[in-house]
Amino acid sequence: MVEKDGFLLKCAQIVGHQNLLLDPEDRLAYGFDASRLEAMPACVIMPSSSEEVSLILKEASRERIPIYPRGAGSGMVGGAVPTEGGVVLSTERMNRIIEIDDDNFTVLVEPGVVTGTLQRAVASHGLFYPPDPSSLAFSTIGGNVATGAGGPRAVKYGVTKDYVLGLEVVLASGEIIKTGGSTVKRAVGYDLTRLMVGSEGTLGIITKILLRLIPMPKERYLLFVPFRNEEDAAKAVVGILKSRILPSAIEFMDGAIISLVSSYLRDTREEPKPNIPDETGSILLIELDDPQPLLDRNTDAVRQICIDNGALLVSASYDEKESESLWSVRRAISPSLARIRPAKINEDVVVPRSKLPHLVKAVQAISKRFSLPIVSFGHAGDGNLHVNILYNPEDEGERKAAIKATESLFQAVIELRGSISGEHGIGLAKSPFIRWEISPETLETMWRIKCSLDPYNILNPGKIFVPNRAFIEKK
Ligand SMILES: Cc1cc2nc3c(=O)[nH]c(=O)nc-3n(C[C@H](O)[C@H](O)[C@H](O)COP(=O)(O)OP(=O)(O)OC[C@H]3O[C@@H](n4cnc5c(N)ncnc54)[C@H](O)[C@@H]3O)c2cc1C
Repeated sequence: MVEKDGFLLKCAQIVGHQNLLLDPEDRLAYGFDASRLEAMPACVIMPSSSEEVSLILKEASRERIPIYPRGAGSGMVGGAVPTEGGVVLSTERMNRIIEIDDDNFTVLVEPGVVTGTLQRAVASHGLFYPPDPSSLAFSTIGGNVATGAGGPRAVKYGVTKDYVLGLEVVLASGEIIKTGGSTVKRAVGYDLTRLMVGSEGTLGIITKILLRLIPMPKERYLLFVPFRNEEDAAKAVVGILKSRILPSAIEFMDGAIISLVSSYLRDTREEPKPNIPDETGSILLIELDDPQPLLDRNTDAVRQICIDNGALLVSASYDEKESESLWSVRRAISPSLARIRPAKINEDVVVPRSKLPHLVKAVQAISKRFSLPIVSFGHAGDGNLHVNILYNPEDEGERKAAIKATESLFQAVIELRGSISGEHGIGLAKSPFIRWEISPETLETMWRIKCSLDPYNILNPGKIFVPNRAFIEKK
């Protein structure tokens, strides 16, 4: 398909031969993401500027060639997987931090900048970019904007969309548009910035991003709190939020994770190694970053609420380095799950915060019903849990049970007035279920927007709107 009318030759002229990958081994590396769904792209193209992206899209539009934008490929729903062949457009060479504006608290970046790199760069100016997906060491800002990524600090600071002031986007036609701008307020025309954030590469290719920053909090305390069971931990979360104290993160780990956390702590050289009593059945990591003397007062109050709700103990860490090693425990969970079962379905469901104890109970019931280990952890402060359904893909019974368990989870979440995705988006993996949450009229409105911006459906086709069940289940 891509050889049509010399498309490849034109692309090579635009980006240079060295930035067009055609060998199968190279292409294979760009055919999957963290969802484990995969498909072979016809080629991979790595432009270095908005102008190059524009020229590529003009050609692709003319020849009706599908284009799949890709950041780091850390997405959990197959969003960057090239399901219908075509071209993977990787933003890895568009990785410049263009300007940090100290006076207006903004930063202008290209989409391929890694989130953690951006955070460190602005921190050296005393500024803070709060969105902190656990993948921040490798995911890109472009991918974060395209998926609307969130992280532990969302409970206080919000998610990626709350920090995007403006975008440069290349439309399917190759036209380059600019949305928003560097003022704090703006009331001119439709809010196309919000439309693009979370559009998962289906409406345009994001080529520049203007982000809002805030002053870096001066101090942070981190509490590591083991509980006897998940219900006590979930009740403590509700208790903290009811007290009107807003921690900067409240992370939850369920009972199934405790042995993984303990063995990680045994193996790692990271210090400190917090005390985990034998009877621990759940852990909360709670971060507070208020200005003093409020920080001390709020920390004492949160400590008391945890104890009142059955905390086995509360260990506090007061400096950045110590806290970082505790955070590394939390970030190590996801990769360690393979010790329980070789495969997992990782769902990022979200419920209203007060319903968290109900969600925890529903997950336990689903695990029992389908006889599968299910591990939950995540951003309890905003009702967003990563529910990992673990299974052995070689065992047909377990594989089918895992799919059924996922459907039961979605049903439970929708009954609790929640959403099937708090962070990862729909992509390919959740496309069969979007109709469970969104009415036909709403979905039709979204599709009309898609058709008006991308009339030939060349941008990330097969995602969000197409219930691609067969593709997913055969994996
Ligand atoms: C261990 C681990 C932990 C994770 N933790 C979190 C978490 O805490 N919170 C969270 O939200 N997610 C998390 N994720 C998921 C993932 O990291 C995020 O979805 C992230 O935003 C994807 O970024 P990426 O650069 O890897 O994008 P990719 O996976 O490459 O792409 C994701 C989507 O964005 C589109 N896209 C990428 N770049 C552009 C662009 N420039 N223009 C238009 N569309 C584009 C792609 O087409 C695709 O649809 C985690 C993943 C892993 C593996």
